[in-house]
Amino acid sequence: MKVLVLGAGVVGIATAYFLWRDGHDVVVVDRQAGPGRETSYGNAGGLCPSFAGPWAAPGMVAKVLKMSMQPDSPIRFSLGLDPRKIQWIIRWMQQCTPDHFRVNKLRMQRVAHYSLRCLKGIAAEAPLTDFDFHDGGTLQIFRTDAELEIGRLSAKALDEFGVPWKLLGPQELAAVEPAMAHSTVAVAGALHMPADASGDSYKFVNELAAFLAARGVTFQYDTQVQLIRTAGGQVESVLTDRGAMQADSYVVALGSHAPFLVSPLGIRLPVYPLKGYSITVPVIEGQDDGAATAVPRVAIMDEHNKIMMSRLGNRIRAAGMAELTGYGLELDANRQALIERVVKELIPTGLDFGKVEFWAGLRPMTPDGPPILGRTQYPNLFLNSGHGSNGWTQSCGTGKIVADIVHGRTPEIDLDGLTAERFRA
Ligand SMILES: Cc1cc2nc3c(=O)[nH]c(=O)nc-3n(C[C@H](O)[C@H](O)[C@H](O)COP(=O)(O)OP(=O)(O)OC[C@H]3O[C@@H](n4cnc5c(N)ncnc54)[C@H](O)[C@@H]3O)c2cc1C
Repeated sequence: MKVLVLGAGVVGIATAYFLWRDGHDVVVVDRQAGPGRETSYGNAGGLCPSFAGPWAAPGMVAKVLKMSMQPDSPIRFSLGLDPRKIQWIIRWMQQCTPDHFRVNKLRMQRVAHYSLRCLKGIAAEAPLTDFDFHDGGTLQIFRTDAELEIGRLSAKALDEFGVPWKLLGPQELAAVEPAMAHSTVAVAGALHMPADASGDSYKFVNELAAFLAARGVTFQYDTQVQLIRTAGGQVESVLTDRGAMQADSYVVALGSHAPFLVSPLGIRLPVYPLKGYSITVPVIEGQDDGAATAVPRVAIMDEHNKIMMSRLGNRIRAAGMAELTGYGLELDANRQALIERVVKELIPTGLDFGKVEFWAGLRPMTPDGPPILGRTQYPNLFLNSGHGSNGWTQSCGTGKIVADIVHGRTPEIDLDGLTAERFRA
């Protein structure tokens, strides 16, 4: 069967891999000049099933409102007149109850743990060796006693999800991450979640796309998808700025932009962008001598500033901020300064801040948290959308799930709460 995958981000490329593995004739199309050039380019690098959970959490509405009024807040919010955004916000607010949170978190945990196993499977099978993968877990650090108390409570909740964790006092941090001995931050405590990992999704996507291209998968870049055409109740072709493209089946993996292409077909995808920023800073050569290394290896989440950082080979990637302000990708120098300040506090030596790369991206958020996978009312059109702030973590599992559905096979995990069905209720 010929399958056209729309979108060459980490979600589209992972889907293409599993479709190729099933023996399909796969074509991937993207408007960029290569794979992984939009949201999959500069994310924080965290492969963190332990963290996978919805943005819609109890107390979040008040927190967002309060924080968005503070200068230098990681959250920015504008109402505007976009009806899609207003509808998204209403749905998001409705999901911020303890019961919804628990259900949504369980759904996301189901996908995220499965997904990390799928990623490790691809990396071993292909094999992929060049995406700065590190299997050392995440260290969530708390700067105040109040934050630590919340961390203690959320750690207990991790048991329900079967996530291993250990609460550490300030003196125990260096045993997990020796570089923390150099930090200038007064830490009240930390949570170590050893099941997590980190890696560079852009490098992963490029290595995997090259692997697939060498095995017959076709990549058509610099091609803007303009319209999905239907006839007789199914997709007949896709119109692009370089002509029409035809296949037997079609997978939509267009990140935050998916709703624009499917809404003319009557498919209302509640996916809206949540903008974030990252900096990438090179490690100064010679800083990695044995245990005295000043630059962390494990992924670190600074809970106080909501900034996540990962060691990606000879670089540190740090990302954060949550702006519900539309589709713009403008770079805000104040945001860069804030992330740099946090990184300098945690990693005061060993990084070359003269060579910082600054980036912004759009997390494709669903109001409840889990992605939207699988079938539509068109029998040959499939969705792989709405991966939000955990899309790198969830990409390989969702790629496998959607490829299984396209192939006509039952996915290996339960799809309850992971399809577009939940928004029709
Ligand atoms: C600041 C930040 C930090 C993050 N940190 C993490 C993290 O630590 N861990 C984690 O798991 N996730 C993280 N994420 C989330 C993760 O990066 C995303 O969920 C994931 O990259 C989404 O992948 P995607 O393939 O769906 O979207 P994209 O990577 O955006 O891919 C969509 C593709 O579709 C193409 N496209 C769109 N419209 C068209 C069109 N009309 N025609 C042709 N092509 C089109 C685009 O060019 C793009 O290549 C972070 C995100 C941000 C912004």
